[in-house]
Amino acid sequence: MKLAVPRESEAGETRVAATPDTVKRFVALGFDVVVEKDAGTLSRIPDEEFVAAGASIADTAEAALSSADVVLKVRRPSETELAAMKAGALVIASMDPYGHEDAVAAMGKAGVAAFAMEFMPRITRAQVMDVLSSQANLAGYQAVIDGAAEYDRALPMMMTAAGTVPAARVFVMGAGVAGLQAIATARRLGAIVTATDVRPAAKEQVESLGAKFIAVEDDEFRQAETAGGYAKEMSDAYKQKQAELVAAHIAKQDMVITTALIPGRPAPRLISKEMVASMRPGSVIVDLAVERGGNVEGAEPGKVVKLGDVKIVGHLNMPGRIAASASTLYAKNLATFLETMVDKETKAIAVDWEDELVKATVLTRDGAVVHPAFAPAAE
Ligand code: NAD
Repeated sequence: MKLAVPRESEAGETRVAATPDTVKRFVALGFDVVVEKDAGTLSRIPDEEFVAAGASIADTAEAALSSADVVLKVRRPSETELAAMKAGALVIASMDPYGHEDAVAAMGKAGVAAFAMEFMPRITRAQVMDVLSSQANLAGYQAVIDGAAEYDRALPMMMTAAGTVPAARVFVMGAGVAGLQAIATARRLGAIVTATDVRPAAKEQVESLGAKFIAVEDDEFRQAETAGGYAKEMSDAYKQKQAELVAAHIAKQDMVITTALIPGRPAPRLISKEMVASMRPGSVIVDLAVERGGNVEGAEPGKVVKLGDVKIVGHLNMPGRIAASASTLYAKNLATFLETMVDKETKAIAVDWEDELVKATVLTRDGAVVHPAFAPAAE
């Protein structure tokens, strides 16, 4: 069994899908592991560490990918990478399939079995394979660190002989995995933290971290969580009430971190240009949803922009800004999933196509798109 780990080819992707630790696990499972040269460099893993763990190094992606039975990636494979893979290979990555149906179809045509890690069910058994959580956690942390770096004042209250610096007020919008970590990080840095979400379950979690919960708590709010634990798209009337509450609150904040997402839809717009303009000079907004259309009007993907005297941080790939940590967790997520697809006695690939984790994540197989969200409608 050959397992390949190519160097990520997408610009700005600093992470890698395996680490020396996971390579050791794959070798123990019976894999020949081939890592592309410099695959781990941006995550601070030199090739020698992969070699010491039992991998060999390939000079090119083609050499790594050719005849591989399993390919581990951070991002969906490019056309060139797909062309180098053999039909039947298992390809495990964050596939970002919504809005990229052509790319999903191309993976089907290439004959690979493509697994989208972001579709991993959020059940106890799969927690250790949950890339959305592992990466969002780091993104939430990094958002506060990046926000603090752009903020020209201190976050904690400081009482000194020369006078007192007041604590910064940080407002976190969207209290899922990233938002909760942002709350915890901002609290550790000494800020006064408030947070909002449309899911009622978030209230208790926000409060347990020592932050104050701010939301329009009406009947719609009380039913605003899907069975899967995600947010629902809210009505226009709710959004209006939420916007009014938020507008009054934001004017008093020094830093706002937005993390609001709705699976498979554009990010909800939560902050208007008027709200940005209401903040005092030097305030900072970090829009973690910028890749999905943005929560903040005026945010630009990959840029820090100034609207008046307020900075809006729109960094792309926030987990990639803390790549060494992000790769460590991501690689473990993938390794644990792959282990469920290998027969430990015979040391052969043995995918249980009826396993709920496999059924939830598999996008393409045997030359066809098979995931219900992307497969052509049944005749
Ligand atoms: P997400 O990334 O899809 O969205 C981020 C947050 O934005 C969510 O909390 C969502 O409710 C919120 N949001 C959406 N629209 C909003 C709006 N208009 N205003 C304010 N907030 C808005 O969510 P996530 O971080 O992936 O987490 C979703 C849920 O899944 C959470 O309850 C989380 O605790 C849960 N979860 C469970 C498991 C598990 O059981 N294994 C693992 C991870 C997460």
